[in-house]
Amino acid sequence: MRIKMTCSAFLTMMTLGLALVSSSSRALPDTARAAGKPNVVLIVIDAFRADRIFASNHGKPVMPVLAAFAKDSWQFTDAMTAEAWTKPAMASIYTSLHADAHGVQFGTQYSSDDKNAPEHADALPASIPNIATILQGAGYDTIGVQTNPHLQARFGFANGFNRYTVMKASPGILVTPAVLGEIKKARAPFFLYVHYFDPHTPYLALPPYNSAFGDMPVLPPAEKVLLEQHQEEYYLDFSRFCLGLTATSKFPPLSDQGRDYLRHCYDVECRLVDDQLRQMFAALAPLAENTLIVLTADHGEELWDHGELGHEKTAYEELLHVPLLFHHPSRLPKKADATPVETVDILPTIAGFLGLPPDPGWQGVNRMQAPSGSALRPQFSQCKGAFPGFPRDFDVVKSGSDKLIVDRKKNTDLLFDLGQDPRETRNLATAKPEKTAELHKLLETHSAQMKSRLQSLPHESGALDEETKQSVKALGYLAK
Ligand SMILES: [Zn+2]
Repeated sequence: MRIKMTCSAFLTMMTLGLALVSSSSRALPDTARAAGKPNVVLIVIDAFRADRIFASNHGKPVMPVLAAFAKDSWQFTDAMTAEAWTKPAMASIYTSLHADAHGVQFGTQYSSDDKNAPEHADALPASIPNIATILQGAGYDTIGVQTNPHLQARFGFANGFNRYTVMKASPGILVTPAVLGEIKKARAPFFLYVHYFDPHTPYLALPPYNSAFGDMPVLPPAEKVLLEQHQEEYYLDFSRFCLGLTATSKFPPLSDQGRDYLRHCYDVECRLVDDQLRQMFAALAPLAENTLIVLTADHGEELWDHGELGHEKTAYEELLHVPLLFHHPSRLPKKADATPVETVDILPTIAGFLGLPPDPGWQGVNRMQAPSGSALRPQFSQCKGAFPGFPRDFDVVKSGSDKLIVDRKKNTDLLFDLGQDPRETRNLATAKPEKTAELHKLLETHSAQMKSRLQSLPHESGALDEETKQSVKALGYLAK
């Protein structure tokens, strides 16, 4: 969902000194059992491509701080998110359940034929143990600093947090001071979850980060106003067109310079986040020996890799491949690890690190005890889209270098050999029917297990706020 403010709105807000902040507080937990345990910091960067960590732009590193941190961490180079958009992806990180098992998507309270804005959307049920409730129960001071509007308290994502501050779609330069304040206030041991929103659309180019890679690219006059002042309008229109919700696009296709400009803005956003990480790591440095830091993304971002822009619409690697780093100065390895892993592994691994008992219901594994190496375990993901009846529906399985995307809407298969074809350009489904059938079987077994799990779990919903209703309308879905 895109509720990020435009550059001009942001500057106005800075002038007024206002931020969209809400928070909830609960009683502090009993601390006795947690004494001496390590702190845990979970950093999620929204819509963040794994390939940006070590990327360069005009010969300059895009994220020098994160690149150095990654080399100093246990870095999983083949991590797959559970979903291609925020809410189900984050519910999977919270619960170690795949998206079809927890079922937290956009909504079940209305049908795709509704002509009115929906009133409710799925919420993470309070009765399902999540990363915050588990750590709160273990005596941790649990703190969330949230920017994504899908992850508000009303949708269950504040469950288990002593303090959960929501700064809707705010730039990192406003979020970081709040984070640093929380680090100062936190009672050890603490669990701090920080969600940065910056690489999400619209891609801003805020100073001073807009000069990090030299001058900003020059836009053709016809696209200058559109991309500098009405980028979100362009994005929503292009998304509607790509999804087939409109027959024609309101704006002509972007020129190569226009596309390069937006890719450049995306890198500027990544550099902004890198500078926030620098500040956060500096604040955590005195606590380093007793702090586990985990960094990941809810999903990646397409920048015309397969002809589209943004996320939640396809299931290619630029969406599903996410960064995943575990960092502790003395208790974890510092290495790049190509073992295929999933974001549902995050909770079991954190619990394992802390010596907390595993929950038999978790679908991920503790990476510290699981075997390493390739092709040991298939990875599963999906892209069901943000709304019921969404015009895209993909199920994904990856085993070794073979990846199958099943298009449920078109009833077709896409099979790729990522070893030979990492950009997913050659569909081998017809040429390799046996491999396609083998992966279908894995997917069907997985889907049946998820369906059965879904039926055994509770389901809840939360009322939509007016802002989210309007953003649903803005996508044009309800006008279909
Ligand atoms: Zn997201």
